[in-house]
Amino acid sequence: MFLRRSLTCWLILALLCLLFLASPLFLRTAEPGTDEPGLAKALALVSGERMLADVRRLSSEEFNGRQTGTADDFRSGLMVAERFQSLGLQLTQFMSARLGVQGWAMPEPVTVTQIADQALLQLYVGLDSLVAQLGTDYLPILDSPSVNVIAPVVFVGYGISDPARGFDEYEGLDVRNRIVLFLRGKPDWYPDPVATADKERTAREKGAVAFLLVTGPIVPAYEARRGFGTAPMGSYSGVGGERPLPGAWITPALAERLFAQPPRSLREAQEHLNRTRTPRSGSTGVHARLLWESRQAPGTLYNFLAVKPGADPRLAPETIVIGAHRDHFGRQGGVLFPGADDNASGTAVLLEVARVLAGVPLKRSVLFISFSGEEQGLLGSRFYINRPARSLSQTLAMINVDHAGVGNGKLTVGVTGLHKEAAMEAGRRADLADRIEVFGFFPGGDHVPFKEAGIPTVTVVSGGAHPHFHQPTDTAETVKPDILEAAARYVLALSWQLANAP
Ligand SMILES: [Zn+2]
Repeated sequence: MFLRRSLTCWLILALLCLLFLASPLFLRTAEPGTDEPGLAKALALVSGERMLADVRRLSSEEFNGRQTGTADDFRSGLMVAERFQSLGLQLTQFMSARLGVQGWAMPEPVTVTQIADQALLQLYVGLDSLVAQLGTDYLPILDSPSVNVIAPVVFVGYGISDPARGFDEYEGLDVRNRIVLFLRGKPDWYPDPVATADKERTAREKGAVAFLLVTGPIVPAYEARRGFGTAPMGSYSGVGGERPLPGAWITPALAERLFAQPPRSLREAQEHLNRTRTPRSGSTGVHARLLWESRQAPGTLYNFLAVKPGADPRLAPETIVIGAHRDHFGRQGGVLFPGADDNASGTAVLLEVARVLAGVPLKRSVLFISFSGEEQGLLGSRFYINRPARSLSQTLAMINVDHAGVGNGKLTVGVTGLHKEAAMEAGRRADLADRIEVFGFFPGGDHVPFKEAGIPTVTVVSGGAHPHFHQPTDTAETVKPDILEAAARYVLALSWQLANAP
């Protein structure tokens, strides 16, 4: 009896061995270079619906918009860390000398600025007054200081003061104690880029008490390509260490209410400025009231890291990083920014790729990073580069996933330091050859500090329009599971390819 049972066990074991030998997974490791069957099996495990469930949860009220450095941001990080741990990945432990804490995350102090509930933007046009709708008609700039002012509004075109080039939109105007209204961007003929921060600085130097910012009806080509409309977006002032001027981003429709006298419309003014080189500035005859409270508090941002060690002892010290930022804008003026596409989508892709890769041997190590601080200027990825968990010189590539949930079903891939052919190859392996568009460097995103550190980078963004970019309408309802699936399949194939390359 004992003998018989033992024999049966051995037979079952032998059968299992045979099945294992015949499995695509084993064939991959048995014959380096012919890893397609194992990859095909891994690709088949990717589930768009599973990722959509993660996007729904991350963008729900539970995490309150995951504002950088807040407890909401931290709790969303714990969700990611718990998932990493349940997959058997090694969480990376950190010590912060500045904060005196040790734990399974990479902490850094950061200032949290929030517009308190109950913001007000009111226009006084003649005897009429109009209360603008927060989140729809306007958004305060997210790090705007507190403000309580009623003042006349002066239109200053694109807000450029450049007497050396003979183009000074403030010429002959006194904007002291006025609210200035300016267009985003610049006229096509103006040679240098002009950041909103430059315009804000100019307005402050000229004595303005606040500013209103509007995207003109003629949208710049780059933004039109990306599908940005003219709706106000959540944004930070970007003026660095200086104290920002209070300001709000308004819709063109609201701005039109300010054009009762010449120039008679925002469009007419923008066309004039784009066509001629003469300013079209002047008083609007409208008063505006801006009222909100901005609260500042110390916060801590956390990157959560987990590693899957390489299976080949010779190649295991080499690392492929897969990263996605998790943080977003939280709740501003009481309005929730769910950040479903930005970047619950990338976080869901990160978790799904980790889930699938956790079960297969790869020659090199893979480091998964859930960054915070991206929305406040790539803070989390910069902190990582200053304090890397794995040798930067042995980090072969960084794959960044950001905005991977909406669009036309294609993937736009930005590559630096690698042959574009390698990025195309991964597309073929993932069976996505006709859905991949490969470009060079994408400005902005957590890959930038890695690129600056000399590490090759691949940035994966879903192609086509992202119409809810940085808006309260960026909800899980707009995210498509098949787009998440394409992004995860691509990242899986690419990381597989890079981690197993000879
Ligand atoms: Zn963003």
